[in-house]
Amino acid sequence: MLNQIKGLHHVTSMADDARTNNQFFTNTLGLRRVKKTVNFDAPDVYHLYYGDEVGTPGSVMTYFPFPQMAGGRAGTGEVGTTLFSVPKGALGFWQDRFAKLGVQGLKDEELFGEKRLHFAGPNGDGFALVEAANDPRTPWLHAGIDQDHAIRGFHSVAMRLNDDGATSELLKYMGYEQVDQADGVKRFAVPGGNGADVIELEIMPNIARARPGAGSVHHVAFAVENREKQLEVRKALMDTGYHVTPVIDRDYFWAIYFRTPGGVLFEIATNEPGFDRDEDTAHLGEALKLPTQHAHLRAALEQHLQPLDAETEAA
Ligand code: ZN
Repeated sequence: MLNQIKGLHHVTSMADDARTNNQFFTNTLGLRRVKKTVNFDAPDVYHLYYGDEVGTPGSVMTYFPFPQMAGGRAGTGEVGTTLFSVPKGALGFWQDRFAKLGVQGLKDEELFGEKRLHFAGPNGDGFALVEAANDPRTPWLHAGIDQDHAIRGFHSVAMRLNDDGATSELLKYMGYEQVDQADGVKRFAVPGGNGADVIELEIMPNIARARPGAGSVHHVAFAVENREKQLEVRKALMDTGYHVTPVIDRDYFWAIYFRTPGGVLFEIATNEPGFDRDEDTAHLGEALKLPTQHAHLRAALEQHLQPLDAETEAA
């Protein structure tokens, strides 16, 4: 069993409209945009990162907004819900805020002794806030959301699977322990994690596979401290029979990817070097940052990419 994985690193999803996406995550949820860059493989598409002040691993929600992308269809073989941690007693505030802002899909639930509020992102993305006891992580305070209510980072992701057997085995191999079970849901947690420690598997034998599109999670990334630990995990996964990509430099972390038995794409990402490697903490996410190989496209991309902020438009 591995011990290098310390919880979630980031979750990456797809959207259609960049500006709506930016508005939702910064103004509605009050996260900080910590990086404005482009998709490595499709540089005419943004890659937007939202999280806490510095984009601490375990807090980072990222998006590829493909203009005009069709909506996804929910199903199995995907992350169905991405859950954020908020303090105890915070859900009433969020319920009122979401109702006022017209956020869709509001639904209360209690699971594993924790209250959660489900809500939908701009493309029907499945989200929930969970009241978690004693989450010590420091929130980014923005958009009138104070310390008592602000999002701390991820609580967990919930994957929908036809059959959880192989994925449960994989999670255990990755260092997770099954900690609870209820109503067709198995809960796993990694000891000594970064706060985003939980994975839930929703077992849905008769539900069709998801069709990815806007509002779908593209992949979920797990955190390791550094490149050395990442290579240990890569070797162990390959020895177990997984097809794992070579290490890829993603500018703010190094990444390896592999497809899991239930259909979900996993990434293992390093905590190093982090989002402040190319801009000051005070100004994270403000300037358009381009990977070196796309730097020559800057003039064209600045023309092509939709402005995200009112200030940018006025400039
Ligand atoms: Zn990723």
